[in-house]
Amino acid sequence: MSFNDMNKEQLHQIRADFPILTEKIYNKDLIYFDNGATSQKPRCVVEKIEQGYYRYNANIHRGVHYLSQKATEEHEAARTTVAEFLHAGKREEIIFTRGTTEAINLVAFSFGEAFCKAGDEIVISVLEHHSNIVPWQMLCERKDLKLQVIPMNENGELDLEVYKSLLNDRTRIVSVAHLSNVLGTVNPVKEMIRLAHEKDIPVLIDGAQAVPHIPVDVEDLDVDFYVFSAHKIYGPTGIGVLYGKDIWLNKMPPYQGGGEMIQTVTFEKTTYNVLPFKFEAGTPDYIGSTGLAEALRYVQNIGLENIAAHEHELLSYGTERLLEIEGMRIIGTANEKSSVISFLVGKIHPYDIGMLLDKLGIAVRTGHHCAQPLMDSLKIPGTVRASFAFYNTKEEIDLFVTALKRVVAMLS
Ligand code: PMP
Repeated sequence: MSFNDMNKEQLHQIRADFPILTEKIYNKDLIYFDNGATSQKPRCVVEKIEQGYYRYNANIHRGVHYLSQKATEEHEAARTTVAEFLHAGKREEIIFTRGTTEAINLVAFSFGEAFCKAGDEIVISVLEHHSNIVPWQMLCERKDLKLQVIPMNENGELDLEVYKSLLNDRTRIVSVAHLSNVLGTVNPVKEMIRLAHEKDIPVLIDGAQAVPHIPVDVEDLDVDFYVFSAHKIYGPTGIGVLYGKDIWLNKMPPYQGGGEMIQTVTFEKTTYNVLPFKFEAGTPDYIGSTGLAEALRYVQNIGLENIAAHEHELLSYGTERLLEIEGMRIIGTANEKSSVISFLVGKIHPYDIGMLLDKLGIAVRTGHHCAQPLMDSLKIPGTVRASFAFYNTKEEIDLFVTALKRVVAMLS
């Protein structure tokens, strides 16, 4: 069955998997349109975490006893689930991190140590989240490199001609978002990777916003590094993933030192563990990993194609309805766009809109969305952002538009 044909009953059943969706906010039904910041959790993910703590909690890898072995099995099975989800060829190419941010910091530090020298260049884009800017800036400062920025057109699409011209023999790595958290733009990452590879330049893709909405195949993309956070794809907070080709990871030094990442330690010298453990210092979030795996199974059960189709309908419907409002300005109108709508209305400050919508039980995000350079380039202080998930409905969009009309009338 396609999600498009899903009747109300089926959507109702899916929504019932998410207990928070029945919460009342100031006595109003919650409408949760802040999925870009974090997603809500289905019952099965919370139950998996509960089961881990209640039934087989023990530190992993080092224990000979039953619980430790069971916990290790679950954690390593979760790694396999992630590898299959991303279509990674080798499970040791999956590194568990605290999230997207830590994964990018890991690569910026470790890749930077191994491969960058003064005068080299790093290419990012104007629409990046701070997490995909600041770690590279820190590397640039540490090693005296130059940050090059791909610009975009007025629709929020990256300028590929300028991108091509930025790739040269000083470029060490390209790091761009798969999907913009502000504009919803889906970047042509496959083509961008191909262009970089023509010049033997590796590419990191920030998939924080993409994985919940778009099927990702790292082997088909031929991407060198791909990162995402569990909490945005219906999994727990505090855990995320770095996929990296082993040809790179094997040549990169560890990011942090400690237990787990070592083979032997003496006071004179330490030798490091093999992949993936070399990059997983300390006790990992071995319960979070199983929650993430459960979330991925949940999403796969519904089907990412079905999810994308339903969310696309929400995006088209939401855009059409929002444009009914006088003074509506949608920020980000790329041809390839996912279920994020950023907007401004007349001269009203986004924060005021967000505050009043909240009082009506509607959760949207306002502000710069951790993308201040993008806001500067658009010459705006911020936006209101509604971001949809597969559990959202057209009825919620109708209620949102009615509420927004009221709010705009009050603030105009
Ligand atoms: N990149 C993008 C595109 C994001 O949307 C986010 C989260 N808003 C991040 C990176 C950072 O993710 P996290 O805070 O989970 O590390």
